[in-house]
Amino acid sequence: MAKAAYKRVLIKLSGEGLAGEDGFGINPGVIGRVAEQVRDVKAMDVEVSIVVGGGNIIRGMTAAQEGMDRANADYMGMLASVMNAMALQDALEISQVAELYIRRRAVRHLEKGRIVIFGGGTGNPYFSTDTAAALRANEIHADVILKATQVDGVYDSDPHVNPDAKRYERITFDQAIRDGLQFMDQAAIALCNENDLPIVVFDMGVAGNLTKVIGGETVGTMVTG
Ligand code: UDP
Repeated sequence: MAKAAYKRVLIKLSGEGLAGEDGFGINPGVIGRVAEQVRDVKAMDVEVSIVVGGGNIIRGMTAAQEGMDRANADYMGMLASVMNAMALQDALEISQVAELYIRRRAVRHLEKGRIVIFGGGTGNPYFSTDTAAALRANEIHADVILKATQVDGVYDSDPHVNPDAKRYERITFDQAIRDGLQFMDQAAIALCNENDLPIVVFDMGVAGNLTKVIGGETVGTMVTG
């Protein structure tokens, strides 16, 4: 088995990624495959934490555009993230339902070799689970954020729209911010930039990609200071 290039990682799973081809809700097959990949990584002796999104169930901004109060819709989005976290926890066979977030306790769990799942975003409306990932990764001193997406990295434009879109293997935070690249929201990128926390954007739909990233192979796009 490949040697891990990182000691402590935070994996950001979007809600969308859990819906699979259904496009909505939680697909049991997909979540099973995600759990399998996470277990493979754990076996490489890496401390693993995970932030899950909620976009497969509800996104606050979208619901607000349809007339719902934004803060209310955001709280629903955060509950969606908690539901996804519980589904993932179930697939990983973790026994306890949940505990309140206490930074030092989360770090202690990691040190003991437990997988920590952060559900519910930042707990505040008007934020995203990407920002929650950036926040928690900094708090627990993760070595890297592994941002799992549906595309194989960061492009200079949307590859679904522009067939000539160029994929980056490496890119700096400054360039990402300057070019307004949308792989994570700007607040999350800014937080990682300020604290010099690298992000790897990669496609977790491809089996084995996560272990490759952890092994230090060039998969997807590395975003650094
Ligand atoms: N959300 C929020 N505060 C947070 C994190 C999330 O209000 O700190 C809400 C927001 O409405 C968001 C929804 O939860 O649209 C789902 O999260 P997100 O869109 O980040 O999920 P993902 O895109 O990763 O599936």
